[in-house]
Amino acid sequence: MDTKKKIAILGSTGSIGTQTLEVVRANGDLDVVALAAGSNVELMEQQIREFRPSLAAMWSEEAAEDLKVRVADLAVKVVWGMDGLLEIATMKESEVLVTAIVGMIGIRPTIAAIEAGKDIALANKETLVCAGHIIMPLAAKCGVSILPVDSEHSAIFQSLNGEPKDKIEKILLTASGGPFRGKARAELAGMRVEDALKHPNWSMGRKITIDSSTLVNKGLEVMEAKWLFDVDLDRIQVVVHPQSIIHSAVQYVDGAIIAQLGTPDMKLPIQYALYYPDRRPMGGKRVDFFELAQITFEKPDTDTFVGLKLAYRAATAGGSMPTVFNAANEKAVGLFLNREISYLQITELIEACMDAHKNISDPSVDEILAAEQEAYEAIQNRKHG
Ligand code: NAD
Ligand code: MG
Repeated sequence: MDTKKKIAILGSTGSIGTQTLEVVRANGDLDVVALAAGSNVELMEQQIREFRPSLAAMWSEEAAEDLKVRVADLAVKVVWGMDGLLEIATMKESEVLVTAIVGMIGIRPTIAAIEAGKDIALANKETLVCAGHIIMPLAAKCGVSILPVDSEHSAIFQSLNGEPKDKIEKILLTASGGPFRGKARAELAGMRVEDALKHPNWSMGRKITIDSSTLVNKGLEVMEAKWLFDVDLDRIQVVVHPQSIIHSAVQYVDGAIIAQLGTPDMKLPIQYALYYPDRRPMGGKRVDFFELAQITFEKPDTDTFVGLKLAYRAATAGGSMPTVFNAANEKAVGLFLNREISYLQITELIEACMDAHKNISDPSVDEILAAEQEAYEAIQNRKHG
């Protein structure tokens, strides 16, 4: 009998997706049954040849047609678009869906996978930010696990191992501070795409790297933590820790703080999510306490990095406001990466969209997608206005 754990990956050509495949390669007892990606047909072809999934998806029909021709000699079905993502999310063979896709496009496939009884190894934080109120109760109802892949949330998850949730006093969510830590707001005005893409400790996809520089990423992670661990916002404290050695911590009611430390490498949280509760061997550099020159902590500067302040505002408002925060950010970061807006306009656009939004409490998926559309259009109109 085939006892390999069967996994499907949404976003296989990205930073998390390729590192997930490295973990698969290193372990040898995971079976990749499906892969989905946006437009990188060349890398997708290589991945199919190496991992032999039975199903593969590209976002556009054109890319899927291209892929079909390239892999015509193999027994793989090629699909495309949202229907393709949904087919992969719900396919019978898979046991775990790795959501390594970027953005709130992940909402519908994630919900469909949970309804189909798949465990979720969740990297796609935007989905939880917008639809955590739908996803977490649904996962509980369907008896599936949501296993965090985000390094901070994996650290919290590891620090919670065996401890009851009602003994948590607070969560200490660490942040590197990004490439612009210590800068004044006036200095941020002139920052270009290449400046913002220089992350000090982590190599990640472009969108999350920009989000790390604005601290919007940390804001999204506060909301992600709230949903994953069911803790109130006032018990989640962001701690800037530039060395990225402590990946986050939990403080308990008796004052004990339990943390997870390690060198920054996403393969550890990915592997932990895929094998939980097992802890598998992994190579790579170890933290050497004697080599650590210093380990420091700061409060986040929310007057300069207003992205974090806006995130708390969205999280406190709840309802559809986190969707507007996230959607406006996705759109604005896309425009910044295209060099159509300046760096500070990213958070200005988020704030303007939030100011204009009439909040809807407990939004349905359709209402979430409508709020997303509203934010996109507001930014589009502003840009041309
Ligand atoms: P990335 O840009 O490197 O990769 C994104 C992947 O999604 C690519 O494979 C891309 O082809 C695919 N994709 C994008 N749009 C698609 C679509 N419409 N249909 C199908 N596939 C699509 O991004 P990343 O850095 O790997 O981040 C992925 C997610 O993981 C994000 O939500 C991010 O916040 C989260 N995350 C990433 C890191 C990291 O170290 N990179 C750490 C923590 C959390
Ligand atoms: Mg993170």
